[in-house]
This record gives sequence, C-alpha cells and structure tokens, in this order.
Amino acid sequence: MTNLNPESNAAQTQDAPTPTNFLRDMIAEDVRTKKYGDAQIQTRFPPEPNGYLHIGHAKAICIDFGLADEFGGKTNLRFDDTNPEKEEQEYVDSIMADVRWLGFEWDRLCYASDYFGQLYEWALRLIKAGKAYVDDLSADEVREHRGTLTEPGKDSPYRNRSIEENLDLFTRMKNGEFPDGSRVLRAKIDMASPNINMRDPVMYRILHAEHQRTGNQWCIYPMYDYAHGQSDSIEHVTHSMCTLEFADHQPLYRWYIEQLGIFPSQQREFDRLNLTYTMLSKRKLLEFVQDKHVSGWDDPRMPTLAGIRRRGFTPEGLRAFCAAIGISRTNGATDIEMLEHYQRDDLNRRASRAMAVLNPLKLVIDNYPAGQVEFFEVANNPEDPTAGTRPVPFSREIFIDQDDFREVPPPKYYRLSPGKEVRLRNAYFITAQSVVKDAAGNIVEVHCTYDPASRGGNSPDGRKVKSTMHWVSAAHAITAEIRLYDKLFSKADPYDLEEGQDVLSNLNPKSLEILLGAKLEPSLANAKLGDHFQFERVGYFCLDPDSTADNLVFNRTLPLKDSWAKIEKKAGA
Ligand code: ATP
Ligand code: MG
Repeated sequence: MTNLNPESNAAQTQDAPTPTNFLRDMIAEDVRTKKYGDAQIQTRFPPEPNGYLHIGHAKAICIDFGLADEFGGKTNLRFDDTNPEKEEQEYVDSIMADVRWLGFEWDRLCYASDYFGQLYEWALRLIKAGKAYVDDLSADEVREHRGTLTEPGKDSPYRNRSIEENLDLFTRMKNGEFPDGSRVLRAKIDMASPNINMRDPVMYRILHAEHQRTGNQWCIYPMYDYAHGQSDSIEHVTHSMCTLEFADHQPLYRWYIEQLGIFPSQQREFDRLNLTYTMLSKRKLLEFVQDKHVSGWDDPRMPTLAGIRRRGFTPEGLRAFCAAIGISRTNGATDIEMLEHYQRDDLNRRASRAMAVLNPLKLVIDNYPAGQVEFFEVANNPEDPTAGTRPVPFSREIFIDQDDFREVPPPKYYRLSPGKEVRLRNAYFITAQSVVKDAAGNIVEVHCTYDPASRGGNSPDGRKVKSTMHWVSAAHAITAEIRLYDKLFSKADPYDLEEGQDVLSNLNPKSLEILLGAKLEPSLANAKLGDHFQFERVGYFCLDPDSTADNLVFNRTLPLKDSWAKIEKKAGA
C-alpha cells in the first residue's frame, strides 16, 4: 500500500531500516519536496519491439504502471524503436495486447522514432557547444581506443575537429553521403573517466536500413543511451525505472540532460527478474522460436506473456506474484514454484470444477440398471457459491483413471482394487469385483457393484471409504486431446554451461506430453477460450486455440500439487 502522507512515510522508514520499496519511497520524497512542482508523476514502459514480452517485463510493467497509479500519475507505453533491423510490427502489436492483458492501460502511445527529428536537432546543439564530434575511426578502432577498467582510453585523432567541420560531416552523415560504419557521432566527455560509458560514447551510427515507421527518411540512428533519456525528457517522465544493468549508464543519462538543459527526468534501477528453469531474454527466446524448439512465441512452455496466457495463467495471479517478489538493489533468482503458487492461488478461486479422466479405464457397474441415466447436480466451484451448479450424468458404464485401479494393490494403496470399496465423487460407493483382460493380459474392464443407499456419494451407515475418485459416464463422455506441459529446461540455471556444452542439452525432453484419448464430462464441450478449469484431482486446464469442433484440445496449466510452501519453509528454517 502506498502512503501518500509524507510524515508517516518518513516514520515508516525509520522503523524499518530496509524500506520495502525504495522506488516508492523515492517518489514519495519527490512529491513531498515538490521536486517537480505541481507536475504529475509520469512514468513510461519502454520495450524494444524486437520480440514478445515475457514474465520479466511483467515485473517492470507492474512497477512502471503501478507506482504511477499509486501517486495519481500516468504511464506512457513507448516503443524504443531505434534498431530498425531487429524490429517488427508483429512485436508492436503483441506488446500492446500483452500490456492490456496484464491489466494496464497507457496514457500516451509513443515511439522513440517520433523523436528522431528532435534528437537530431539536439545533436546539432551539442556539436555547436563543442560537446560532440564526428569520428572516422572504425568500430574496432573505437573499441581499442576505449581502454579497459584499469586503463584510461586514448583520444581519437578526430576528437578535436572544428565545430564547422563536425557540423558539415554530421549533416552529410544524415544526408546519406557515407557508407554504413564509416563514421559515428560521439559525445565529447572524458576518455579517462573511470566509467567506461563516459568515454566519449557513440550517439549516432550510420545505418542505411529501412525503419518500420520512418521508412527511408533516416540513415543515421541514435544509440540507446542518447535516445532513451531524451525521449524520457520529451515526455516529461519524472521517474524512469529500469533494470540494474543500466546503473552504470546513469551518469551519461544525466550528462545529456544537463548539457541540453531539458526536462530533468531521473533514472532509477531495480533488480531484473530471473526465474529458475526459465530463460528471460527476448533475444534468446527468439532463437528458440527460429530454431523451432517451441511451436512459436505463444508456445505454452514459453515464459512469454503470450505463452503463459495460452497455458492458462491469469493476469491477476501474475500481478499478485509481481507484488510479492517486490524489488531489490541486487539481482537474484526467484523460484519458479513461487510464480506457480500465485497462479494456483488465483485459479483455485476462479476455476470451474469438472471431471476428466486422462488415462481412461472402463468400469462396469453390474447391478446398476442398463439404460438408466441419473443426473447429479454438482457445484461448479466450492470456493465460489455464486458459480452455480451443473448436471453431471451417471450411468452403468463409466471411465475412471488407470492409476485409480490396481489388481494387486501395492502397500498403502487406498484406491480401487478387487474387494475394496471407494466413493465415486458425487455419485455412489462402489466395490470392485472382477476384471476382464485382453489376449495380452491387459485389463480392459473392471466390474463392480454399487450401493444404491450411498446416492450422492454419502455414506449410508457411517461406514468409511479411504478414497474418492473422479469418473465420467462412458455414454456421455467427450473425447479430447490433452497437452501436459512441464518445465522447458531441466536445469535450474539453463545457461550454467560446462565448456563446449550447448544450452539445448538442458532442454527438458519431457516438457510436452500429448494424450489423445482423454474422456471428459460433457459440460466441457461448452468450454471457451479464456475459461479456467480445475479437473478434479488432476490439475488446472484451459482450452487451447488449436481446438476444432471435432477435436477439443486442453492444456494443463499446472498440476494441483503446490510445492512452494515446502520450499519457503526450508529456506526459512
Ligand atoms: P530482453 O533482454 O528480454 O530483450 P530488455 O531489457 O532488452 O530485455 P526491453 O524491451 O528493453 O527488454 O525492456 C523493457 C523494459 O523491461 C526495460 O525497462 C527493462 O529494464 C525491463 N525488463 C526487461 N527484462 C526484465 C526482467 N527480466 N525483469 C525486470 N524487468 C525487465
Ligand atoms: Mg533492450
């Protein structure tokens, strides 16, 4: 919760030596001291449209939009589209859809490319002030001159060109007179700075590439550091939040703004989200898509927002997770089980219950009248009384899961076996009597008897059964394809590689298992994309867009078992 009262916020900070959220505290302080006068708090979410958003971006989105919202401010969605060769409209469209799916709406939709003209004018201003110069060194030479962490850099022989010559060359760069890579514009700062980012960073490079928005209007493109802060400033962004790898760039961010004397946006950093068993980098995820290790950006095993949405994750569960992980000033790794825990927590509340048998085994109730059908009225969600009920048909032949029957039960096996009585959920008590086998000795049918007095699954005389099983009436069942997903990688840190080892060797070979003959209760024929289900005793599922009228496909979002509490307890112990 935000505390807009400055006094009590200060008190809170005194009580707690490590404030829970230093970004919130900083904004509260800026509001209190009226650092930006009466201007509103303005943030931005600045993705580069070079791939689909992933769970890491969700954290940044929650911070950028969430903090602005808490302080009554606004957030822009800004595409950082300064690398024309890697960017595509498909990515722009998916990013907008994903931000909205997560539950946020931007104030202004902006593009760094809208500022190319302004950025160019400001570059001319820096040249005229003697703060920028055209350098003819090659990229390799620029790198060699830059020095190292322990050695200062060397001045380029072109560093002291006259302002007139720089203006002339830069204009001609813009006019397309020079080939790619032949010249760059550099800021003139300090080649001996201990911060390598300050050793005359490149502002512009020549790139004769068509841009998806500006076409062939430009053949010089600004570098990230020059474009980002100035774009923030143009939009009057007060707080520009980004991940820790940009902390070393902050002095440069400030330098440009100070030299230009423009709106003083401030950059602040927080930790990048890393998840165990997961790869969070658009560039690397693109490789998996291109090399077809997954079916696309929205493969349900992908950590992209499109992937987890198709898998059945909810935006509410993801936001709750982002709130729970908080922020820090150092990078670490978060257990994927924690992400899953917040999904289960949310799905448990919203998922409709249904019965589905993934690996069916036919069960015949010998003393149940042939041709009779009963309908049991079953609650759709015991967690939500408003979710209503539905009729579930019951008849003489049903399917149960193969795992729920053993001819010779192992020790502590409480499910069905010959002579044992169990409960069919919401239906009856049954006792297994015999089995029918095929020529190969496989059990194809289990025969049993039922107790009519146990109707509804209630014990008629107080006798207890140790197991309650799900089932589906054979005559009413719909057959569906089920896709069971597991982690994409089998190693907690998939990029922790031995020499010569490829990340592909850490792919989990069992990340997708397809079951073709699952039997589902008939109400699932009405499942719609975006619905969430709990298949009782099995897990959370949702309809996949590959479904057709004749072939329904369900994705397993998550199995039921939650291992997060155990992990957390172990960590705390
Ligand atoms: P990627 O390597 O996946 O492409 P990026 O940082 O290059 O990530 P951008 O499109 O530039 O991706 O990111 C937009 C915003 O999202 C930035 O502010 C960035 O700091 C933030 N962001 C990206 N990845 C993460 C992450 N794993 N955790 C938190 N924030 C992230
Ligand atoms: Mg980036």
